[in-house]
Amino acid sequence: MTELTSALAAALPDGRVLTDPDVVDSYARDRTFVPPGRALGVVLAQSRDDVVATMRWASEHRVPVVPRGAGTGLAGGATAVDGCVVLSLARMTAIRELSPQDEIAVVEPGVITADLDRAAREHGLMYAPDPSSYEISTIGGNLATNAGGLRCVKYGVTRDSALGLEVVLADGRVLNTGRRTMKGVTGYDLTGLFVGSEGTLGVITAATVRLRRAPREMATVAAEFTSLRDAAAAVSAIVAAGCQPSMLELMDRTTLQAIDDWKNIGLEPSTRAMLIAQAEGSADEMAALCGAASFVAVSSTPEEAAELIGIRRLAYQAKERLGQCLVEDVCVPRSVLPEMITTIEEVAARHGVMIATVAHAGDGNVHPVFVFDRGLAEPPEEVWTAADEVFRAALDLGGTLTGEHGVGLLKKRWLGLETGPVAAELHQGIKRVFDPLNILNPGKAI
Ligand SMILES: Cc1cc2nc3c(=O)[nH]c(=O)nc-3n(C[C@H](O)[C@H](O)[C@H](O)COP(=O)(O)OP(=O)(O)OC[C@H]3O[C@@H](n4cnc5c(N)ncnc54)[C@H](O)[C@@H]3O)c2cc1C
Repeated sequence: MTELTSALAAALPDGRVLTDPDVVDSYARDRTFVPPGRALGVVLAQSRDDVVATMRWASEHRVPVVPRGAGTGLAGGATAVDGCVVLSLARMTAIRELSPQDEIAVVEPGVITADLDRAAREHGLMYAPDPSSYEISTIGGNLATNAGGLRCVKYGVTRDSALGLEVVLADGRVLNTGRRTMKGVTGYDLTGLFVGSEGTLGVITAATVRLRRAPREMATVAAEFTSLRDAAAAVSAIVAAGCQPSMLELMDRTTLQAIDDWKNIGLEPSTRAMLIAQAEGSADEMAALCGAASFVAVSSTPEEAAELIGIRRLAYQAKERLGQCLVEDVCVPRSVLPEMITTIEEVAARHGVMIATVAHAGDGNVHPVFVFDRGLAEPPEEVWTAADEVFRAALDLGGTLTGEHGVGLLKKRWLGLETGPVAAELHQGIKRVFDPLNILNPGKAI
């Protein structure tokens, strides 16, 4: 240990600080290829007091701090920077309170998302935000990235379930934002500001989140189409008919092929796209609205439904088997989803790049995954050119660069295209108010 890390270790209970280089390396990356900087050490926080002590030490010595949940991020947000300490919140896993009466839970940041959902279901409730990574990501990471997920089309993103936060600021002060009521408008919406701030404004050490009644009967439909456009048209039809789906997911041929090669799902050669839709009540109307489908499967039991949705949840791992992945995340108004998907196909063909696309189609949130050679340290030029064209097309269609993964390090070079100089200046001003020494996740997100 150096003098600096020894001072940190002295400020914390035994065993909280790790400096073994191999161990530190294992905390330095998220799920991107972004090369990490060299960290001084890792703090395994187990309480708010540990976080307070870490931030006081970091302020005193002006050491950058990179907050970290499970490291499943896809934007380089939790990637270590040179000379930093990685502050892992993964051991703060208590569900401090779960109130069925008020339909809220108070949780620590290291709680795995699906664990909170399971705890809520014991009371007939659910925690709605469900990123595909919900079995491996943490609530703290979900809050910091404002994660979306499969059920967002009906229940909204993480911000829509966040009522209040406990946050440790850069100088170690503790801030409580928001409330535990369903309504409340006192002061500025600081909870909303912290959600999605990617660890640049403060470290979330607890959250009061909203739970919802778990629906009793869910109908699930999986429909195969011989064209992506027909699948996208079915999305519009299902929404327009007022089916209020709680899930509306689209996968293209490349994605389905990767899943089939891995799990043998019996993919037909003519299938170009699959739509998976779920709603409360009957499946008949949604199935009928998939009129152009070549095949429609309707689940009659919860087990069958889980199997159909399980196909979608395999998508990311299936693509990782093809090579390294640049997982992108544009979001467009739902009405122009067919144009966005067609553009992605054209870009892939023009640059000879493999792009496998899945979409939270009900939200217009499209994930084109650019697959490239495993041997390369980072994506080759043609992948960046193709990605650049996809981002610009999304913005031209009235969309955004990132629907749910965040900016991190990966998207920073395109940020100005969307925000413009006035917003950029205000972002920097807000950052200075919360973190005048620029020690919280410096260089990320803004
Ligand atoms: C297979 C797979 C599927 C995925 N599917 C989805 C999806 O459907 N929807 C979606 O939105 N994302 C998805 N993701 C991306 C990722 O899971 C989410 O971004 C998730 O919210 C990250 O959580 P984490 O705990 O891993 O956070 P990390 O990756 O550890 O950190 C993410 C960011 O949050 C910050 N942070 C973490 N904890 C805190 C804290 N307590 N206080 C302050 N800042 C903090 C970090 O500094 C970093 O900037 C997927 C990833 C994978 C690998």
